[in-house]
Amino acid sequence: MRYAEVSVNSPVAQRRTFSYAIPSGLSIDVGQAVWVPFGDKLLQGVVLELSRYASVEETREIAGVIEPCPLLSPSQVMLARWISEHYLSPLFDAVALMLPPGFERKAITFISSRPTPHEYDMCSLSREQRQVLELVERQGKVSLKELEKILGKKRTQAIVSQLVKRGLAVRSYELESVKARPKVEPYLSLAVDAGEAQQEVARLHKKGANKQAVLLDLLAQQSKPMPLAEARQRVNCGKAVVDTLVSKGLVTIQYIQVRRDPLSYQHITPSYPLTLTAAQESALKSIKSSLLQVTKGYASPSIFLLHGVTGSGKTEVYLQALAEAVRLGKRGIVLVPEIALTPQTIERFASRFPNRVAVLHSKLSLGEQFDEWQRIRDGEFDVVIGSRSAIFAPQPDLALIVIDEEHEWTYKQHDKSPCYHTRNVAIKLAELTGIVVILGSATPDVETFYGAQQGDYRLLELPERVTPVEGSALPQVEVVDLRQELKAGNRSLFSHSLAQAVAKAVGGGEQVILFLNRRGAATFIQCRDCGFVLRCKRCEVALTYHFTENALLCHRCNYRTSVPQICPRCLSRRIKFLGIGTQKLEQEASYTFPQTRLLRWDSDVTKGKHSHQEILDKFRAHDADILIGTQMIAKGLDLPLVTLVGVISADTGLNLPDFRAGERTFQLLSQVAGRAGRGILGGRVIIQTYSPEHYAIQAAASQDYALFYDKEIAYRRQLHNPPFTQLASLVYSHTNDALCQRETERMKRCIIDERDAQGIAGLSLIGPAPAFIHRLRGRFRWQLILRGAELSAFLSQIPIPQGWTVDIDPVGLT
Ligand code: ADP
Ligand code: ZN
Ligand code: ZN
Repeated sequence: MRYAEVSVNSPVAQRRTFSYAIPSGLSIDVGQAVWVPFGDKLLQGVVLELSRYASVEETREIAGVIEPCPLLSPSQVMLARWISEHYLSPLFDAVALMLPPGFERKAITFISSRPTPHEYDMCSLSREQRQVLELVERQGKVSLKELEKILGKKRTQAIVSQLVKRGLAVRSYELESVKARPKVEPYLSLAVDAGEAQQEVARLHKKGANKQAVLLDLLAQQSKPMPLAEARQRVNCGKAVVDTLVSKGLVTIQYIQVRRDPLSYQHITPSYPLTLTAAQESALKSIKSSLLQVTKGYASPSIFLLHGVTGSGKTEVYLQALAEAVRLGKRGIVLVPEIALTPQTIERFASRFPNRVAVLHSKLSLGEQFDEWQRIRDGEFDVVIGSRSAIFAPQPDLALIVIDEEHEWTYKQHDKSPCYHTRNVAIKLAELTGIVVILGSATPDVETFYGAQQGDYRLLELPERVTPVEGSALPQVEVVDLRQELKAGNRSLFSHSLAQAVAKAVGGGEQVILFLNRRGAATFIQCRDCGFVLRCKRCEVALTYHFTENALLCHRCNYRTSVPQICPRCLSRRIKFLGIGTQKLEQEASYTFPQTRLLRWDSDVTKGKHSHQEILDKFRAHDADILIGTQMIAKGLDLPLVTLVGVISADTGLNLPDFRAGERTFQLLSQVAGRAGRGILGGRVIIQTYSPEHYAIQAAASQDYALFYDKEIAYRRQLHNPPFTQLASLVYSHTNDALCQRETERMKRCIIDERDAQGIAGLSLIGPAPAFIHRLRGRFRWQLILRGAELSAFLSQIPIPQGWTVDIDPVGLT
């Protein structure tokens, strides 16, 4: 007898597998999807391991295979196990990341009477048992769901079990309908030979059945089946005409599989490799030699950090590295942040590898995702490009993973289990399989750069922009002190300097971007006159304003205070300044710059699938002079007419109670600055701020990553933040606020007890405190933060009840 360890799709399965016997005659492989009995249900599972021995005494048998071929490769199986262990997620959640889109299906349980029912005495049955039996007899079979509606979940389970045990009923299973399947379309072809068809055409014309005649004639001229829709359109006929020909036996309808192709709406002109600059050449050389190692089967991971400012030619290096992988008979996956997955980006890859690029992201329909997945697995593409989940694409012969803008926090899944980070997953996959990973960024994550400094990753630098035209170098950046502006009596949103620059640019027929960092802007209280922000005396973080209570709150230690009437620093009464929105900015801009054409771009106006592109096209076509927007305009846009970028208030992000606040601000400002001067006109950036001396702002202004990194890493070391320790966030949510606080305190004690029992030093706790987002969809949320080492292993020993969400290596505020 052989056994399989199966990851089962059930919430009770958690992080473990279950042993099943493999019935003789059934061929089972690692990675294969199967149906297994689980309790009184039939569930989906994936085989993670085969063995000669069962891990428990009594095993049940695998009920059947779902797909004939394995869906996960052996390395993906290892990866899924690691994700579950590291991120403490249910094992099947990790496995599910790698399954085809729309795979998850339930088996529906039915109750029916036995083919040869046992004799029984009606009187020995309870009223409810009789009720169920009568219903079953009347309908032949009844679904468990239906019974639950009548009797409730608990009673149904009990009664059905009793009836089955007494041999009066049986359970049977039927599958829920498939969510995604190959798409087929009707095609028409002749059912008779061409000669006969021609005679029939003449006869039909004579009878006055002209449409039938024309359609038949059209089909007689085709060498292969013709799509029904196309045929009807060409003849301009209704469905009845087709049906008549079919019923006469002259024409047949055939269903043929067609592709849902997300790239089909673009026509792609091929592009060719550029002659590399010296810096690009040297970076590519290192990557190429690692790729060669992969093909020789040396399994040592090579992680490269490609550090270069925007426009330094990183993408060209990715493209040529991918081409090298393809030349060696291998394939690649390219990951970009969801927001950067614009047609522009896709086109760049698609044009270098015409018809060899697949696209995967969440905006595709399930059908499109399903088709792409199947075609990727069949080896139809050299390159898969997509957002974070594309890392799990079933790309065969994988040798290279590129993660562009590796510092982006959209690479971390935070809203559902498992809370994995794409970068860490890629690095793990490289460890398991020896593939090459390129992490690219203008502003690498401090932790990644530290890894490179430590020698874990190999640092490749592209220090300069590839300048297509002489003279267009990095833009000039000017920092404006808003406190001085106010002293000079300017109370508008635009400093004197910015207002002048906007007027000049627009007057000269150039374009302007006004950038508003809205993240967190409405949550802290700032003095409008001196920029002072109220902070917690114990924790140093900015206090968060809570509208409902009109109070200030520390999200680290739960300290509370009321909102002061006057600024403690400058005694101004204009203290309660909660930031501004894009609409307000648009309004003020229209007063300050009359006669200019404004265009606003934020999530409110871009709900639809294509509206991002529409806004962008409009701006690129110079239908507007000023583009006003938030975070999203900071990403990968190439707008040659933009010569000025104005940052309305740079420090909003600095005041978030998050140790990464400085890093985020630096990254964002650097990116925004990179938007200007992409064209031959050169560029200028004006950053308005209340804290011009802050290192994140200074470093962004001078486009100096090293300056930023040195300061930042020193603070991290001093305050024991990552990469010097690991963090885990535990959030408890419930509709009752007081209960949240109590449960969080209980958990804290539980963790401390476990820590002390094990004698672990260097594990500390922050909280309990309300989470940064204290209330979400009607539930209150409280948080504990753990700081230490090997937190996954430690936390895996602590029972974590329902209502808790654990996030290992969290990247932002939750
Ligand atoms: P990044 O990805 O670092 O932002 P890109 O690869 O997009 O940089 O390059 C910026 C611009 O320079 C693009 O328009 C690209 O076509 C061009 N470019 C890149 N490498 C070269 C090269 N070796 N020769 C000429 N132009 C190049
Ligand atoms: Zn003040
Ligand atoms: Zn505090």
